[in-house]
Amino acid sequence: KKASIGVTGLAVMGRNLARNLARHGHTVALHNRSEERTRKLVEEFGDEGEFIPAYSAREFVDALERPRQIVIMVKAGGPTDAVIEEFAPLLEQGDVIIDAGNAHFADTRRREKALRERGLHFVGSGVSGGEEGALHGPSIMPGGSKESYQSLGPLFEDISAKVDGEPCCTHIGADGAGHFVKMVHNGIEYADMQLIAESFDLLRGAAGYAPAEIADVFRTWNTGRLDSYLIEITSEVLKHVDASGSPFVDVVEDAAEQKGTGRWTVQIGLDLGVPISGIAEAVFARSLSGSKPLREAARGLGGPSRAPLSGAALETFADDVEQALYASKVVAYAQGFNQIQAGAAEYGWDIDLGRVAAIWRGGCIIRAKFLNDITSAYAEEPALPTLLTSGGFRKAVEDAQDSWRSVISTAVRLGIPTPGFSTALAYYDGLRADRLPAALVQGQRDFFGAHTYRRVDREGSFHTLWAAEDRSEVDA
Ligand code: NDP
Repeated sequence: KKASIGVTGLAVMGRNLARNLARHGHTVALHNRSEERTRKLVEEFGDEGEFIPAYSAREFVDALERPRQIVIMVKAGGPTDAVIEEFAPLLEQGDVIIDAGNAHFADTRRREKALRERGLHFVGSGVSGGEEGALHGPSIMPGGSKESYQSLGPLFEDISAKVDGEPCCTHIGADGAGHFVKMVHNGIEYADMQLIAESFDLLRGAAGYAPAEIADVFRTWNTGRLDSYLIEITSEVLKHVDASGSPFVDVVEDAAEQKGTGRWTVQIGLDLGVPISGIAEAVFARSLSGSKPLREAARGLGGPSRAPLSGAALETFADDVEQALYASKVVAYAQGFNQIQAGAAEYGWDIDLGRVAAIWRGGCIIRAKFLNDITSAYAEEPALPTLLTSGGFRKAVEDAQDSWRSVISTAVRLGIPTPGFSTALAYYDGLRADRLPAALVQGQRDFFGAHTYRRVDREGSFHTLWAAEDRSEVDA
């Protein structure tokens, strides 16, 4: 019997993906650069399903049904290219190579083109949910050709997470679309985590709640519109008391790390000219937290005297923070979906944004009830310019705005940093403004660099002769 799919790269992610496939009744060929991982997988989990271990590239390829489907789960970057080069020469027209690692979508585009020219399908697939997701059902975002999805789709849908009976896997779009969408997913994840962290900081710093009390607040929020995996785990983390007797959150060094996908999202956002300020602030907030010498040097800088909240303001504060968190979260997701739209326009992908939200409802880190509302918003209006103008979100954010503004002013008054909340509100106010001071910026640019400007009352480009006595205007 031959295998319907093979997995090469059997570290934690590859191993769990292979086990997930086997547990669903698929025969899985196994391969890893060093033989030990392959042997160990069969020894430890061989009874979970049908595995065909292979100890050479040739043996691996020969173990597969046609069209052959090879999932590569190795360290992203050079190793992925090395593994592709190891297998591509052994494959035949129509076979499919799937890179399920965390590749940059530009690498995926390059690899797809090169392999297409050699008659092979290359699918860059985002896989979210970490090792647990890989084993029990991840959210899967495959790109590549439609044709490749015909054979791969049923397998991936089978092993993906399910929500309301629907698989959390869909064909995203051509070449790098899957890895692009996974990248934005991670960017949104950064923003969401930062907003939740700011909520905690405010509840503690402005309202004096203890971590365990904040855990309860989050648990309550998790029964409402903020119901999500991230809120749930936040509550767990805050509740945890360390062996030393201190709240866990107080013994952890306050320097957040990152592996790079958030940074990619921001870099690409800049390239595409999409204002994804919520994601950017979240990445910068991690950088600031990790800037130890800088923070050390600045520690004594003066701030406001803190008179924490009392009376009525204190009483409503947790509800106000919930509103601020919700509104800021809508902004972060709106920005992320706009980035996907911009990427699709730039690279010619046909991406169904509502489906993207739907497959993020399970398996991945940002899974949340909230995503159903995004799916509905795009179902009602597929070309929606921003989530903020869709009926439900519009009303919710308008209703939240008084609390949102009040929470941010409290933060400013007390000197509690809320880059995520603040940038989200600035974005909202910027979008809805009748006039922006960009008009003045255009004037400055024309003054020092003759960069020209357009007028509100006439077509054309103009330049003012700033050095001339009469500052007359000329067509440019
Ligand atoms: P690692 O990223 O730690 O990679 C280890 C695997 O890569 C091993 O199988 C190793 O083989 C193989 N490898 C490294 N270099 C080469 C090479 N030059 N040629 C052949 N094989 C090589 O494994 P993970 O399981 O953590 O992650 C796999 C992929 O999944 C990565 O791209 C990662 O970014 C992505 N990912 C990881 C998530 C996670 O939570 N860990 C979540 C989502 C995606 P050997 O055993 O011989 O050393």
